Amino acid sequence: MLISFLFDRILSKKETTNVQFSDRRCLRSRLNRFECRACLDECQTGALKLDGKAIAFNQEKCTDCMRCVSACPNDAFDGGLDLKHLLETLSCSSQVVLTCNKNAHFQQKLIVPCIGSLSEPLLAVMNSMAVDSFLVDLSHCPDCINNHCLNSFNEKMNRLAETLKDNGGIPLKYSIEKNSAQPVDKNLGRRSYLGMAKNSLINLGRESICAEQTATKSSHIHIEKRPAINSMALHYAYRNSQEINKRLLLSFFYTVTVTEQCSLCPGCQGMCPTGALKRRKINNQKRLLFTSSACNGCNLCQEFCTKAAIKVVRGFTGDPEGALPIY
Ligand code: SF4
Ligand code: SF4
Repeated sequence: MLISFLFDRILSKKETTNVQFSDRRCLRSRLNRFECRACLDECQTGALKLDGKAIAFNQEKCTDCMRCVSACPNDAFDGGLDLKHLLETLSCSSQVVLTCNKNAHFQQKLIVPCIGSLSEPLLAVMNSMAVDSFLVDLSHCPDCINNHCLNSFNEKMNRLAETLKDNGGIPLKYSIEKNSAQPVDKNLGRRSYLGMAKNSLINLGRESICAEQTATKSSHIHIEKRPAINSMALHYAYRNSQEINKRLLLSFFYTVTVTEQCSLCPGCQGMCPTGALKRRKINNQKRLLFTSSACNGCNLCQEFCTKAAIKVVRGFTGDPEGALPIY
């Protein structure tokens, strides 16, 4: 029993993990009064703990499930997920199989470190940008040390399906392979692997064109930042007139509202880590401007407003491309 446990540990755990933690980006570590627990609530192995008020990351205990990577609003964790490659491949190739490196033998495979790294907004972005249905292969997940990611993945997918249903009922593009509680797109299954050899030739030509397009598309965007990725996908949805995707993506943007209590002090602007809040003089009048496409929903502005005048809510219905005057 003990030997089998040790074998499992050795086979499923690398000596060093891929996860890197930057305490400079951790909002809780930077601001003693801020009690964000997003990563703590996700971590299943005790690799994340509180050290006083700050977050302490113990790399020895980390099993690379990457759930903290997907949870932190301010990208304090880096798990080596190549988002540029991920989105380029999905937006240019058909019949892609998304899998972790435990199961990398498919032809059109797209490797992610672990499905735990895929946040709900990122899954929405992937769904919007994918040119075709794609498989998420979960066949190795039940035997993996990070099998707890299966549940969280299914929960995210269920919530996404609900949001999509609320927005007009278009099905998700994913088809989840094996052990899934939620096979969404039945058109693409195991039989489609046989067609991959044929299609890979066609895709080769297509990808060389798409590589150029996506390079132009993303060159002006810091693609590793989550609000930027949402914005990029939204631009893509606008360009391709994808109404359902627009609504889905906008549900992951944020809206900030302020009450009459706001004295236009510089507090929230100073707190905001993304520059989403700015005070500007317009027609000789001071205004607070909010850019939804820059906001990561961290809630710092709401937590630290001394007048309790600011409220952050998820979802946006205005023009996310512009800076919107809110007061
Ligand atoms: S989720 Fe990010 S900001 Fe929040 S406590 Fe963890 S590292 Fe800090
Ligand atoms: S506007 Fe508020 S919620 Fe949005 S990123 Fe700035 S501080 Fe965080």
